[in-house]
Amino acid sequence: MTKHIFVTGGVVSSLGKGLTSAAIGMLLERRGLSVRMQKLDPYLNVDPGTMSPYQHGEVYVLDDGSETDLDLGHYERFTNSPLSRESNYTTGQIYKKVIEKERRGEYLGRTVQVIPHVTNEIKAAVLNLASSDVDVVITELGGTVGDIEGLPFLEAIRQIPLDIGKENCLFIHLTLVPYLKAAKEAKTKPTQHSVGQLRQIGIQPDILVVRTERAMGRDNAEKIALFCNVEKEAVIEEIDMEFSIYEVPLGLAEDKMDELIIKKLGINAGPLKIDDWQQLMANVRKPEHEVTIAVVGKYIEHRDAYKSIYESLDHAGFNNSARILFRLVEAEDIEQQDPEVLLGGVDGILVPGGFGMRGIEGKIEAIRYARECKIPYFGVCLGMQCAVIEFARNVLDLKNSNSTEFDSHSDHPVICMLEEQKKITHKGGTMRLGAQPCHLKKDSNAIHAYGEEEISERHRHRYEFNPEYRHEFEQNGMIATGTGPNNTLVEIVEIPDHPWFVAVQFHPEFKSKPSKPHPLFNGFVEAAIEKHQERSPVTI
Ligand code: GLN
Repeated sequence: MTKHIFVTGGVVSSLGKGLTSAAIGMLLERRGLSVRMQKLDPYLNVDPGTMSPYQHGEVYVLDDGSETDLDLGHYERFTNSPLSRESNYTTGQIYKKVIEKERRGEYLGRTVQVIPHVTNEIKAAVLNLASSDVDVVITELGGTVGDIEGLPFLEAIRQIPLDIGKENCLFIHLTLVPYLKAAKEAKTKPTQHSVGQLRQIGIQPDILVVRTERAMGRDNAEKIALFCNVEKEAVIEEIDMEFSIYEVPLGLAEDKMDELIIKKLGINAGPLKIDDWQQLMANVRKPEHEVTIAVVGKYIEHRDAYKSIYESLDHAGFNNSARILFRLVEAEDIEQQDPEVLLGGVDGILVPGGFGMRGIEGKIEAIRYARECKIPYFGVCLGMQCAVIEFARNVLDLKNSNSTEFDSHSDHPVICMLEEQKKITHKGGTMRLGAQPCHLKKDSNAIHAYGEEEISERHRHRYEFNPEYRHEFEQNGMIATGTGPNNTLVEIVEIPDHPWFVAVQFHPEFKSKPSKPHPLFNGFVEAAIEKHQERSPVTI
């Protein structure tokens, strides 16, 4: 029988529910259990694909092409749970299903209501992940207890123990214990209120994970246990990790979180095996190198907008014993100032994905600087398209080269929309999405990094390298080193006459893990270390 864990959050948002859920998933896997991860998001958008990065942060793309919440990135980085469309449901998707059923007449004349029709659909989405080869399904509920839009989800998960047995379900609630400087005290009242709200709905949490900036002490934990009706040992304090988010599972393991869950759910599990992870974190604390990587984007002040990019750079840093210092540069600023002022002294430059006109000229200028000054460059999706435009303008001397996304009348549309994309008018889920095969050329940085000829990477874009220009680019030093089936689509370009200049049409950042960094991020960081050593040969 598959067991179900539900993770809810209270008091404030941004408590790191996704991270905690992923860390719990990892601990259970490392006790030999088979885990599936899932996120339920109470907003009405069908998926985050149509939401601005300001609203939502990055859109995380899966192999099957679904555009999902960024917490699924944590799930993939911490666990081996296979993820698919079934792993992320929004209110929009649930309602879409209900309304489609109603239109097909499947409700046989009944009044269609939130309870039971919407809640049944939510329960089906959760229970669908259970199967004979899955020990535990961890379902994280987005938002905070008390949000109106979260109510149908809470009602649905309240009902699940009645359907499948109380002994097969576990409720974990994350809250915050703030420290009030003036009173010199940690305050438990918001946690009490939040649990009170959950209990009003009919959910009694089994475990409380209490997020704190400073240790709150056993007295407070006992007070919380008493007022919230949970066992003392089930109040787990999760203090901010000063060093790395990848230490979160180690902190939870120290507090015996895995033991508590396994005991409460009555599962048979093996011993916890996390030595490799402990070793990884120990190494990360004592890096031999330090490199500065500039990320030139347009949502720079919003850390979540390029979440997987930063994580992937860190993973490559872990693997090369290097601390990555991020220099976050707003692309528009480069349009106003000499790039030397903003980019001088960096060891590598990365331009990530993006949409729309704003900041494009600044990104192109940053790429020119990287190309001319021989600084390692890594372009991702839009960062590849801008590299192509830059090369066309400044090396091929094709004036007004552009992508048709930014100038539909460009004399040289070196990036353009493919025929099949032109017919699409809907916005959601209509790009070139998900895993696609790519063939690598011999003697390229790409094949050197991957160590194999055939790869598969995830895509999310509408525009492509215009094949009409390929010959001219290759004659002049920008080579297509990765191509789609039948050598048609250009997926990777490189400049061989440069220490490391690789730009890819896909999103490698969705396939990097701390213990298994993505080969291209690894190659880029290696090149950055080399650049750094050329300049100042001392290590730290
Ligand atoms: N805007 C570009 C396109 O749609 C790039 C997309 C991206 O960077 N994800 O092709």
